Amino acid sequence: MSTLLTPCPHFIGGEWRHSRGASSPVFNPSTGEVIAECPVGGSAEAHAAVEAAQAAFPAWRETPAVERARVFFKYRQLVEQNFEAICRTVTREHGKTFAEARGSAFRGLENIEYACGVPSLLFGDTLENLARGVDCESHLQPLGVAVGITPFNFPAMVPLWMFPLAIACGNTFVLKPSEKVPLTAILLGQLLEQAGCPKGVFNLVHGGRECVEALLTHPKVRAISFVGSSPVAKYIHETGTRHGKRVQANGGAKNHIVIMPDADVPKTVEALATAAFGCAGERCMAGSTAVTVGSAAERLLPSLIAAAKAIKVGRTDQPAPADQPDMGPVITAEHRDRVLSLLATGEQEGAKVIADGRSARVADAPHGFYLGATIVDGVEATMTLARAEVFGPVLNVMRMDDLDAAIAATNASAFGNGAAIFTNSGAAAREFKHRVKAGMVGINVGVPATMAMFPFTGWDDSFYGDLHIQGREAVQFYTQQKVVTTRWFGGDVGDVWKK
Ligand code: NAD
Repeated sequence: MSTLLTPCPHFIGGEWRHSRGASSPVFNPSTGEVIAECPVGGSAEAHAAVEAAQAAFPAWRETPAVERARVFFKYRQLVEQNFEAICRTVTREHGKTFAEARGSAFRGLENIEYACGVPSLLFGDTLENLARGVDCESHLQPLGVAVGITPFNFPAMVPLWMFPLAIACGNTFVLKPSEKVPLTAILLGQLLEQAGCPKGVFNLVHGGRECVEALLTHPKVRAISFVGSSPVAKYIHETGTRHGKRVQANGGAKNHIVIMPDADVPKTVEALATAAFGCAGERCMAGSTAVTVGSAAERLLPSLIAAAKAIKVGRTDQPAPADQPDMGPVITAEHRDRVLSLLATGEQEGAKVIADGRSARVADAPHGFYLGATIVDGVEATMTLARAEVFGPVLNVMRMDDLDAAIAATNASAFGNGAAIFTNSGAAAREFKHRVKAGMVGINVGVPATMAMFPFTGWDDSFYGDLHIQGREAVQFYTQQKVVTTRWFGGDVGDVWKK
């Protein structure tokens, strides 16, 4: 066990505060070592952070949008300069490979770039002569204190989905990151402080349920952005809205990838393997179910099994990027055991493991939380594996006779995050994109996750709320509209009016 733990302070009102109370361990999943102790902040920390954010709001609201944007131009530069350190922190506390950390942190960086455009994003509308001599204009104004509650699986990207745009829009912010990956959030906060973000505009508190409950119910909190599992997303949405707040809550997922018999086999196998096993399957856009149509299973499975077996699992905490494996560990020992238990249930229910990564071991890290790429064939709609979000490197195969049945199997999911089709037929792709019940659709694209300028449009149990994270919907979420109707009575200004 490591003796030198990385400090894990809260950041409240511009001060880094260390806590001596209860804590939870932060692991390096590659080795199983404890690398930090995350404080379990409660309502005291949550209230202090909201009060600090509320106190900073009047001055920040009055700061012109171009000046607020300048903080994020500087922040973008600092994040780029410290990109290697951010990615290293992600690999160390989360277990992603360096390439995966880079890719996802880059998606976060694009959200900072989007926030830099905030003066144009805040344009309102005008209509001259709405009635005779009457003009109308709309303004987008900030709300006040916004809160972000984030999951473990994207320690840099998901917080960056939220606070740059919320703050650039003129709000102040309290971030409550996952207690499993607090270190990346701290680093992102330190860089924002260096970028010149005024005290209290960005705050960071660590904690669990009590802390979240205090944030959800605090009368001064106006908006809550949440990303995490569906049961918690539903609870956050219900509790937050009951207390009069705007809430956008992204939940879990079960994403289906339909493969038609005419799909290009090598390209589809490559895309499927990346979609299913990238980030060790710990992503809400993971392609976790391959729905093969007709002869697609026979054409595809031999190469897919070979691709899964070739995936090298290993430590991701090594200094040289060249030493990186194809896949890192999962987040905790409990999470690995949950995935193993779901696979055991799948077998009991009649599914067949055709590529088995359950015994994956890494010689120089015997206590790391490893699982290898696993494929399960013969998954039926009624099985637990078809319904539960496994969130590990596991790909289900469901075999269907035709496109209709494949779309029906995809649409049977309670979730509605992503779905994709691999085909060379424009007609099949068109039919799929029109009928599929999912908010993000890929055509020959395995992970159709949206980038900063488009909303992250989960449906059904993958999203609770109205306005999604990212893009113009997020600008609307973080602002309230004011419409001003103006009429002037002329003729009372004396000689200067008419000569
Ligand atoms: P989680 O729901 O366990 O935790 C998310 C956050 O909520 C954390 O900050 C955690 O501390 C807090 N939390 C957990 N339980 C709580 C409770 N009972 N009351 C109040 N707060 C609570 O999720 P996770 O395991 O960290 O992340 C994985 C999940 O996130 C997966 O389901 C994944 O699909 C989902 N996810 C969704 C998206 C998306 O955009 N739809 C993106 C990334 C991850």
